[in-house]
Amino acid sequence: MRKPLIAGNWKMYKVPSEAELFAKELKNMPAYGDRDIVVCVPFPAISGVRRILAETGIFVGAQNVYPAKEGAYTGEVSPLMLKDAGVLFVICGHSERRQIFNETDDFIAEKVKAVIDYEMTPVLCIGETLKQNEAGETFTVIEKQLKTGLRHISGDAIRKIIIAYEPVWAIGTGKNATPQQAQTVHRFIRKFIEQNYGQVARDVRILYGGSVKPENIDDLMCEEDIDGALVGGASLRFESFSRIVGFQKK
Ligand code: PEP
Repeated sequence: MRKPLIAGNWKMYKVPSEAELFAKELKNMPAYGDRDIVVCVPFPAISGVRRILAETGIFVGAQNVYPAKEGAYTGEVSPLMLKDAGVLFVICGHSERRQIFNETDDFIAEKVKAVIDYEMTPVLCIGETLKQNEAGETFTVIEKQLKTGLRHISGDAIRKIIIAYEPVWAIGTGKNATPQQAQTVHRFIRKFIEQNYGQVARDVRILYGGSVKPENIDDLMCEEDIDGALVGGASLRFESFSRIVGFQKK
């Protein structure tokens, strides 16, 4: 049984004092035993938010990492630092990092490995652009991103990974993939994992991300291979995030 997971990605929003106020608000959400909740917050807000959310059952995640323990990498943040700050989940390869910061699949693979090595959970983001989608390249792109992104992950470690399918054309655009479109890609991803790692594929959580909102979460969560959501814009406000977290399968 895969436990559903709803993860908020606050991106580069909320200064630490705002983040802490928001974390206090999140404490008003009902406690859910049957789903995991994570907020991936900006680096400067991690310790404050974690302190506030301790013992709520809401986990704190990071949005990025540099794949080295320590060293002369000015401006970067290591997995050891995240681990020590109490981070449990780390987003790797978000499309904004791929597009704006030119992160490659090889570099993202290093991050995924680093996060696993420090016993945190990587959330590996993959997804095609609008151009690739229109050219019918979705599955080719997804397969390449999976193949390279998971290249250092062997055997049982795949269990510890979360995949987030985030079609780039759906991120921050208000235009989500339909549940059926997302399900088709999620099924493809699970098949890929099954072919490469075996039956453990049944236990790997695959999230959908891209304009998830209160109006579409219930339908998305009805699909067999959609195990949760990575939520950007709608995770920044209490009303929308708490409604998404409280999804009901129809
Ligand atoms: C994201 O940031 O991963 C995302 C999916 O953003 P949004 O929900 O705003 O489309």
